[in-house]
Amino acid sequence: MFMIYLDHAAATPVSEKVLSAMIPFMTESFFNPSSPYLPATKVRAKYETAKNQIANFIGAKGNDLVITSGATEANFLAFTSVNDVIRARVENAPKPRILVLETEHASVLENAKNYDFEVIRVDKTGLIDLNDLKQKLTDDVALVSVSLANNELGTIQPLAEIAEILRGKRFERLKKGITAPLLLHSDASQGLALIDLNVARLGVDLLTLNAAKIGGPKGVGALYVAHGVRLKPYINGGGQERGLRSGTENVAGAIGFAKALELLNGHQSAKRKKYLHLVEILKQELKSAKVEPLFLGNKKHQLANFCPVSFPGLDAERLIFALEDREVYLSTGAACSASKGEPSHVLRAIGLTDDEIKGSLRISLGILNDEENIREAGKIIREEVDREYERTK
Ligand code: PLP
Repeated sequence: MFMIYLDHAAATPVSEKVLSAMIPFMTESFFNPSSPYLPATKVRAKYETAKNQIANFIGAKGNDLVITSGATEANFLAFTSVNDVIRARVENAPKPRILVLETEHASVLENAKNYDFEVIRVDKTGLIDLNDLKQKLTDDVALVSVSLANNELGTIQPLAEIAEILRGKRFERLKKGITAPLLLHSDASQGLALIDLNVARLGVDLLTLNAAKIGGPKGVGALYVAHGVRLKPYINGGGQERGLRSGTENVAGAIGFAKALELLNGHQSAKRKKYLHLVEILKQELKSAKVEPLFLGNKKHQLANFCPVSFPGLDAERLIFALEDREVYLSTGAACSASKGEPSHVLRAIGLTDDEIKGSLRISLGILNDEENIREAGKIIREEVDREYERTK
């Protein structure tokens, strides 16, 4: 099959090894982990082991995780922590507020709308404006949500620095006698494959993980919950996942997630090097197009596999279709906002003009790319950019 796939930020293929690890838990070991007989208790043990493996990857314990049906659900669950803060407040104290980065994924931004919220600004590379955070971090803020890396630009946020600012604020509040929690949540859907993550080092209280972006199955994610953080049960029933999220566990999904992480382990720096090299090849090719490309994001703090680019004045939607005809698959903005047909809020937030937004492509490399197909992709994209330019000139 001739296909060049350049949209790994949207979905990744499940490898044979991951699939083989999952299959037994849908066939001979199909038992419900809550059943009382021996084969079922063995399945329970395998599920718990998988949870421990996932947790170990971020320096946590299996009990600190809630397995969810993906990152959207994990983000939703993270925000229920605010309810505890609401309960903890004295009656006429101000209503707790949430701060979210203005470039967050829709599953964070739409969630924030259920609460009193304010956005933290980013600079033109998508990096958080720490002064804006400090200014908005008033005594009534209960939760700050900043993703590890942006899903359209690949910009990596300085989470440890953000955590430090929150620590300072907590201390200041304690001195004033304010004991209500101030939590840090991060959606780490993007970047798990390329960034060494440790929850203690990062200083996050809640961390969203997504199996689908790292060669695991779709519809599987997890939320790390630090000790002492209280969430609100939101799917009631049999009391699974510490009573927070009832329903028979997705054993095969968790096993697949653990296996995908195991296959990643320890290779982050080699992978970063490989992608930086491939992205450079691609950029060189695109630079010879008849429209000068505008490479987006932060050069220093960007996921190595991301190459978001704008060809100002061109119509990226038309380009995508032309590229699809040549079996090169990529997207404009995030797959979900692209399907809504609305201009990307991320590209708006970094101050692009309408022309720059209209001409923007999101290219994200991954397991299906090598030097040969990246050279070919670069050539094809350049040819289509030139054709589109000639058409509109
Ligand atoms: N958060 C980010 C940053 C993402 O990139 C995505 C997926 O595109 C999601 C959340 C949603 O993940 P899911 O579709 O697994 O719920």
